[in-house]
Amino acid sequence: MHDVLICGGAGYIGSHMAQYLSEQGHRVTVFDNLSTGHRGAVAWGELVEGDLLDAAALQRLFAGRRFDAVMHFAARSLVGESVRDPYAYYTNNVTGTVNLLQAMRSHDVERIVFSSTAAIFGEPCSALIDEDHPKQPINPYGASKLMAERILADAAAAYGLRSVCLRYFNAAGALPQHGIGEAHVCETHLIPNVLRSALGQGGRLKVFGSDYETPDGTCVRDYVHVQDLAQAHALAMDYMDVQPGAHAFNLGNGQGFSVLDVIKTAEAVSGLRVPYDAAERRAGDPARLVASSARARRVLKWQPVWTELAPIIESAWRWHNAPAAWGKV
Ligand code: UDP
Repeated sequence: MHDVLICGGAGYIGSHMAQYLSEQGHRVTVFDNLSTGHRGAVAWGELVEGDLLDAAALQRLFAGRRFDAVMHFAARSLVGESVRDPYAYYTNNVTGTVNLLQAMRSHDVERIVFSSTAAIFGEPCSALIDEDHPKQPINPYGASKLMAERILADAAAAYGLRSVCLRYFNAAGALPQHGIGEAHVCETHLIPNVLRSALGQGGRLKVFGSDYETPDGTCVRDYVHVQDLAQAHALAMDYMDVQPGAHAFNLGNGQGFSVLDVIKTAEAVSGLRVPYDAAERRAGDPARLVASSARARRVLKWQPVWTELAPIIESAWRWHNAPAAWGKV
């Protein structure tokens, strides 16, 4: 049993993490400023409201309880927004992370699993992106996450901090049986937008770009279920028990699906039509992002359960059709 602090545990991936760890018998504390997360999504463990930019609040948090490990999901994570407002991204994602690491250091907490992203790689130069792929982010979001990765590597060398960076490709899906799913107040992600359009809630879907160099001209992404991401974090925590140093793994399904593939699959799953229009490309979007997760499978023994797109979308569909009361935003 570990005592785990989940920063950003009221958010989409963090809430699935809290559910997963609780089911495994760990004790969870959530630290979240509720800027994009939901109080109602914290159904496992105690919620401490606070902000990573508030160093005094962090000191109080760590002084009050002994944590064995930290999982850090509290970040801004929208590519387009990061292009428009880079200061917000560097402040939250870099300064916030340094504050957290300093609080951990002053209370001798030496293990952290860090939410990173495929956006650190920039434009892919190979069909599958593995951990050795060049890291040249093309937007401030990716750059802010890459800076945090670098800080973790420096902290391993200087202070002996143990860390695992997990670079998610496209987190997707939900756990409707546990009342959690993707519920952003201002939704920009593809699958929720597709489902909302099918339900007649979000207007017609905009397909951003139809002239990419991909088989059907729309962007290709690698969709990985949030529960599988949670599994990888739990394995990363165990890995740090035996491995010092800073480590990083790419997490995806290894299969690319275009925006039009997602629309077709959502139509098949829901039995509804998804009304859509072609729109301009969105700033900062690479044409194709597909992971090689061979290292996570080999080293962490990660075994994704949700390997097909249809069940991933189906879980999201069941959540969107009957979200918990707090998700109706
Ligand atoms: N996308 C789209 N319409 C939408 C939302 C997203 O065409 O309403 C496209 C977006 O341009 C990208 C892909 O879907 O090519 C996945 O975008 P999302 O925001 O879900 O994730 P990202 O890849 O940016 O992390």
